[in-house]
Amino acid sequence: SIRASDVQKKYDTRAIQELDAAHYIHSFTDTKALASVGARVIVKGQGIYIWDSEGKRLLDGMSGLWCMNVGYGRKSIADAVYVQMQELPYYNSFFQTTNAPAAQLAAKLVEISPPQFNHVFFTGSGSEGNDTNIRMVRRYWDLLGFKERNVIISRHNAYHGSTIAGASLGGMSGMHDQQIGIAIPNIVHIGQPYYVEGGKGKTPEEFGLEAAGWLEQKILEVGAEKVAAFIGEPVQGAGGVIIPPSTYWPEIQRICDRYGILLIADEVICGFGRLGHWFGSEYFGIKPDLMTFAKGVTSGYIPLGGVMVGDRVADVLIEKGGDFNHGFTYSGHPVACAAALENIRIIQEEQLVEKVRNETGPYLKKKFATLADHPLVSVAETCGFAAGLNLVQKKGATVHDCVPFDSKLEVGMICRGHMFGNGMIMRAVGDRMIIAPPLVTTIAEIDEMIELIRHCLDATLADLKARELM
Ligand code: PMP
Repeated sequence: SIRASDVQKKYDTRAIQELDAAHYIHSFTDTKALASVGARVIVKGQGIYIWDSEGKRLLDGMSGLWCMNVGYGRKSIADAVYVQMQELPYYNSFFQTTNAPAAQLAAKLVEISPPQFNHVFFTGSGSEGNDTNIRMVRRYWDLLGFKERNVIISRHNAYHGSTIAGASLGGMSGMHDQQIGIAIPNIVHIGQPYYVEGGKGKTPEEFGLEAAGWLEQKILEVGAEKVAAFIGEPVQGAGGVIIPPSTYWPEIQRICDRYGILLIADEVICGFGRLGHWFGSEYFGIKPDLMTFAKGVTSGYIPLGGVMVGDRVADVLIEKGGDFNHGFTYSGHPVACAAALENIRIIQEEQLVEKVRNETGPYLKKKFATLADHPLVSVAETCGFAAGLNLVQKKGATVHDCVPFDSKLEVGMICRGHMFGNGMIMRAVGDRMIIAPPLVTTIAEIDEMIELIRHCLDATLADLKARELM
């Protein structure tokens, strides 16, 4: 067990914060504002918990950034990395060369993914995976003689990464607003299947069909002969754990099939067990042509991403394509691939996917749903090991009759402050509070987590009342 005083002795928090404030520009952060308060210094992880340099323990409800599927502190992954580093720390796969872990991992990924996938392209991250998708999709249509078929349809509030291609594919208004003029062309967006936002007066099933229909409308507007692909996260993660109605994805599949459009599933979050299946596509019963992966492939221990390439695309790209002029220095990095192999071995040995599907996932669903009783909460829903709840000022008979808070009040951020302050990492997306815990979280830990969340919701409510915001 880890003692707070030992951790405190080991790290000089103030010194680290000063270096950080002086020199480190953080991702998606107001660096100036952060520098004035000082970043929390994370120093240790074990299981589903992390510790900061002051010895404070936090329950990591976000699996780091949706990636720590097997939890922190896995010595066998560290060992696999150490062994590979000594044997061959690096070599590329450009010069008609390969390395054993990359070839073995490619085969392993083919084994665990749906049957249409027999090939893999490796990248260093999810964003690079989505860049790769764009290039593959355009190359595919070009090789078939349809160069003009190069429009990709995505969704508002989607997250597909932070390279220019990733941000362009993504539908994050904050990113697009800052990046006007550099979004790459021929990417268009449709609405998201978010029932709370758009489903008033309809059943979820009706709304799911309507939202999928927006794809068909967009295809007809652009011209089917120009549309190359549709991309979507099975469950939108960064957008706020947006769980589509059951009718949505089958209808999207039908529309893609009808117009011959490639279907890309961005599985960066949903892959590797998050929804109780190896891939989110399996949960929703769809058959994508390409799947982006990252995060859970190594449980974040070492950066690695890539694209699973379905036979429809691979047959053209490989049989007709000749050189594919695309690749990264770290494509098929042997150390990252060794970490992934050990990570997948753990997931299989501990049957984490099956556990989330049959045992801990259903338990989390039941427990998380009880939070909807709280006076601040309108809906509390899960899909596998991803969950979201909405904070509202006044509850109503249905989710569409609830009164939301003024977004300027940033109630989600107030709530997040209480969560972090009480040792619970829960993320705020507007006023939707989300979690995606490590897949190793036990029944007892789920109980602890739900109690902690409830306690923090109480603290948020008391705070809002004290500020006269309720
Ligand atoms: N796609 C999805 C669905 C993601 O959630 C993310 C990261 N949150 C990415 C792509 C980008 O991955 P990376 O940060 O590894 O580039």
